[in-house]
Amino acid sequence: MLQQTQAARVVGPFERWVTAFPDAPSCAASGPAAALRSWEGLGYNRRALSLHRAAVMVTESHGGEVPSDRDALEGLPGVGPYTARAVMVFAFEADIGVVDVNVARVLSRAVAGRRLGAKEAQVLADRLVPAGRSWSYNQTLFDIGALHCRATNPDCGSCPLRTRCAWALSGWAMPDPAARSITQSRFAGSDRQGRGRIVDALRRGTLEARDLGSASGWDDDPDRAHHVAQGLVADGLAAWGPGGVLRLP
Ligand code: SF4
Repeated sequence: MLQQTQAARVVGPFERWVTAFPDAPSCAASGPAAALRSWEGLGYNRRALSLHRAAVMVTESHGGEVPSDRDALEGLPGVGPYTARAVMVFAFEADIGVVDVNVARVLSRAVAGRRLGAKEAQVLADRLVPAGRSWSYNQTLFDIGALHCRATNPDCGSCPLRTRCAWALSGWAMPDPAARSITQSRFAGSDRQGRGRIVDALRRGTLEARDLGSASGWDDDPDRAHHVAQGLVADGLAAWGPGGVLRLP
């Protein structure tokens, strides 16, 4: 839920989700449509589908318990190296690092004093883990990245790393070791926006083909709406029912 989504937006849906699905077997038994409905408000609906599929695999192949080793975790739908590492640390306290964009920024500025590539940051994060304290180590790096070492206007005065931070000790020599060009695709008007609107409409009921334009926000472009709907079906987020009606899977 936290992938590309701010924590404040996740709190409500998370509580709704764990109330509806307190464990993997209950999620697996509920079906993908129930998972998609419980996901409302989070966007990136494919994650809901992956989470449901992962719950099915955990139930059928792992006795209903989330596995603790990396290969088994990465074998679950929607779980890549980052999520696998996060689960290993925060659920099982494995002595490894979890590197997201915030942590990479802290490591670049405070430790390396230069911009780190993704692999370099991961190697460094793993090397710095104090044995038996990976949970607090990783949480501390997350918190420093979110609260002090922000991408712009870092709050060095209140940062606990201030006296040992390589960049601060250099007198904040330019360029910023964590500087990077950020290119983000526009959401407004994108296919992703139309997909999200159609899935939102499907949470409330089925859609006839002629309603796809208004549901997606593209009244003037029904072909695009239909194309996007086909994409949702191809991704397993929707299904055509009898009479050409679109519904949740
Ligand atoms: S002292 Fe400043 S640059 Fe260094 S880690 Fe803290 S917030 Fe980031």
